[in-house]
This record gives sequence, C-alpha cells and structure tokens, in this order.
Amino acid sequence: MSAPRKITIFDTTLRDGEQSPGASMNISEKLEIAQALVDLGVDVIEAGFPIASPGDFEAVQLIAREIRGTVICGLARCNNQDIDRAWEALRDAERSRIHVFLATSAIHREFKLKMDKDEIVRRAVAGVERACGYCDNVEFSPEDAARTEPDFLCRVVEAAIDAGATTVNIPDTVGYATPAHMGRVIRTLRERVPNIERATISIHCHNDLGLAVANSLAAVEAGAGQIECTINGIGERAGNCSLEEVVMALRTRNDVYGCETGIVTPRLVPTSKLVSNVTGLLVQRNKAIVGRNAFAHEAGIHQDGMLKERSTYEIMRPEDVGLAKTDLVLGKHSGRAALADRATALGYHLTAEQLQTVFDQFKLLADKKKEIYDGDVAALIEQQFHEVPESWSLVSYSVQCGTGGQPSVRLRLRFADEEFERQLTRGDGPIDAIFLAIEEVTGVSVVCKDFRVQAVTVGKDAQGEVNVEVQHGGQTYRGRGVSTDSVEASAKAFLNAINGVIQTTGPRLHPQHGLAVAKV
Ligand SMILES: [Zn+2]
Repeated sequence: MSAPRKITIFDTTLRDGEQSPGASMNISEKLEIAQALVDLGVDVIEAGFPIASPGDFEAVQLIAREIRGTVICGLARCNNQDIDRAWEALRDAERSRIHVFLATSAIHREFKLKMDKDEIVRRAVAGVERACGYCDNVEFSPEDAARTEPDFLCRVVEAAIDAGATTVNIPDTVGYATPAHMGRVIRTLRERVPNIERATISIHCHNDLGLAVANSLAAVEAGAGQIECTINGIGERAGNCSLEEVVMALRTRNDVYGCETGIVTPRLVPTSKLVSNVTGLLVQRNKAIVGRNAFAHEAGIHQDGMLKERSTYEIMRPEDVGLAKTDLVLGKHSGRAALADRATALGYHLTAEQLQTVFDQFKLLADKKKEIYDGDVAALIEQQFHEVPESWSLVSYSVQCGTGGQPSVRLRLRFADEEFERQLTRGDGPIDAIFLAIEEVTGVSVVCKDFRVQAVTVGKDAQGEVNVEVQHGGQTYRGRGVSTDSVEASAKAFLNAINGVIQTTGPRLHPQHGLAVAKV
C-alpha cells in the first residue's frame, strides 16, 4: 500500500470567515482563535488582508509576531502597495506566505477590472514576482477561476508558477461549481500546464449551492494538495468549505481518498465552539460533525443497534471529534486548578491575570448556581475577550410590567465616577423599556438589528446569554451579556454594544446629565 497523500489544510476563518456579516472579531479574539488553530494542527493560517484597514494590519502583524508552529499568510491584491503592506505585517512570522489574487474570468475582466487577457497575465506575473522578492512561499489565486475559460486559466497558472508561485489556488468565488466541474478544472490544469508539478494546487470553494465540501473533495480526488476552509464553514454569504466536515470526510473515507491531514481531530468540537462563541454565529443543531445533534441517536431501533454494536449506526466516534460524553461539572468548591484545566480543555489560553479574573467571577456564579458546566466556563472567559472599555456600566435596574400596561423601568448606570438614574414608562415589554432607558441615559441611539437569547447550559437556573447587534452611524456593533437573569443579560449586552459605539465615536454627554445622582 502506498503512503497516504498529505493534504495541506489552509484555514481562512480569520480572513474569509471574518467577512461573514456580523462575524467581525477584535484583535485579542483573533489571536485566541489563531492559537486554537495551531492546537488544531492547521498548516497555514490566513490571518487577514493587511491593506484592508489598520485593524486588519495590526491583527496580522500581532499574529505573525506571537503565533508559532504554523505558516502565517496575508492576502494582497496584485499591486505593489498591497503586497508591500502584506509583507510589512508578515515579516516577523516564523514562516510566512503572501497570497496574491487577481480575477481572471471574462465577467470580472470586462466589468470589474476592464483589462484584457494580456494585461491580466502581465499583472499576475508582476504581483507574484514582487511577493517572491520578499518571501519564498507565495500563493497565487486567479479569482473566479471556476468561471474562467480553461485555456486562459491554464495560461495564467503557468505564468504565475513561472514567476515563482509555490501554490496556485483555484477559487470558486461565487459558489457556482459542481463536483464534476471542479474535478475537471483540476484535471485540466494537471494535464495541460507544463510546470504544474512545481506548485501545489489548492482549492477554495464557496457554499452558495451547499456544495463547498463536495467540490473540495472532488478537487482533492483530481489531484489538489491544499484545501482552503473555515471553522464551522463561516464566510462570505453562505460561507466556505467547512474545515471539520472536509477533514472528517477525508479521514472517515480514507479508503476512497487515500489522503491524510495533520488535523488533531479531537480539537474539532472545542475549536468550533470557540469560533461560535467569539463570532456570535451559532452552529445549527444538525450541522455535520460539530452540531449538537451530530451524534445523537433518537430512533429506538438505532439506539438498540448502538447498544449492541456501535458501528451499526455510527461511522465516526464522538471522541474522535472531541465531543465529550458529559460535561465535567464544577461547583462552589472547585479550585482554580480545576477551572484552569477546564479552560485549557475548552481551547483557551489564559494568562495568570485572566485566569484570576475568571476565577473570581466563577466564584460569584457558583453562589447563584449550583452546577457550573463547560458552557458557563466558556461564557465567563468570553467576557474577557469581548471586553471593550466599560465606559458605561450597569449599577441596578428594576422593572414593572404585565399584560395590558406599559412597562415602567428605573435604571441606574455608572460613567467614570458618577451614577445616573432614569425612570420611564414606555416601550413594548421590559427589555425594550430598558433599552430605551439606556439610550436616554447614555445619549447614544442605535438601531437594534438582532437580538438573541439562549441558555448557556441546561437546567432552569441556566445562565442566559444575550447577543445583540446594533447599528450606529452606518457601522455595526455587537454586544454580549451573560447572567442568570435574562433581563439583566439583555441590559449588559446592550450596554456592551453602546460601549463599542463610544469606543469609536467618543462619549456623547447627554444634555440631561445634570441628572447625576451620586459620585462614587
Ligand atoms: Zn472566498
């Protein structure tokens, strides 16, 4: 038997994934995810698009400086400014890769770039050459490759490899391909590009037709050696090829593909949860591999079979993807070491200082709630990473409401060393009333675009987690709050979002700030 072919796993959760609406992450969240990706065993981390914004640049640079044990990649269009900026961000990485892209399909050439074929080839070569002047690991992507005429695609790819590209990535940018189509594209490149053996062929599929994983697998069968994917399949529109699905398909059907990856599969579920917690994008219950129901056998006949012999209905073992059989329950008497242990198992890397803060909050929570589950621990830790400077904080609230009348709320907030109180009778229900009161006190009004409450764990005393998404001045801000009281969690989430606005725009002192009730 020949040795299995090693497939490079290129994770773009922090770049393509971050482009999902509502998934933007702050710099410490990105660093945390990058570290989790290293633990997961990915070969390349695409950390961002450095020229896109100063924030993107900073995040790529920080990841390049801090993260060891994998290749750090930055994206650039085929122009000098982009490539120079990408290198500036990447230069301190242990190993770096510059990823340059340029659209090649007729529709993009004509309408977006207004360039003819010769010009495209010239630009692609110039871009790859410039990147090669900085580092010897250069990836080239002909954007919208799946819709590019095969002859021209072969020509561009050959030129890019001649110019020094070590990976040529074939993106199905718009999610239009089918498995047979994708397999044909890769085979065509292998048959017709004379220097193709000098580079790794990569595949980058979008999921607009739900085919991203199938298309990626078809490309691997046809000879692709790298898959670009994201945790939970997050990404632009319907998302990207989902890392956990494609990796487990290669592993479970090794008999078909004869390939292996370096992924530490028991880290799949913890990494999925981390990304979901950080981005606020929930994983659907029936999601393959990492969904809550992925290994739940409900039908009686299945359960009977499972008890007699697991493989009757189970093609993978839950422990292979890191699904713990039961949450380990912590409580009032659990010590710091037990908490640290759970945090590590959940995929977090806490500093001693962060651990202490989380431990203090853990103790407070243990007073309110007897059993503390993994979900609670994750929620406590997430508050650390979501931390925006707490300009405004909640001191207290009380609300009176019922059917048939308007809710009445009394709210007290703190800003710096002053406390402000407001009482109003308005709104549709207690949460709306509290949001209105918060807007009045802080002087920041927003449009609420999304509001979600979920239980962090099981049981009637479970903590409620609230995620809100608000808009202010054309920008979107997310907020998150956790409490055993879901109205309080809502108030905290809303304030968290308002504090995000203030971080960008500066505090807006309301004319009625003479209402300050106390100095503290
Ligand atoms: Zn993409």
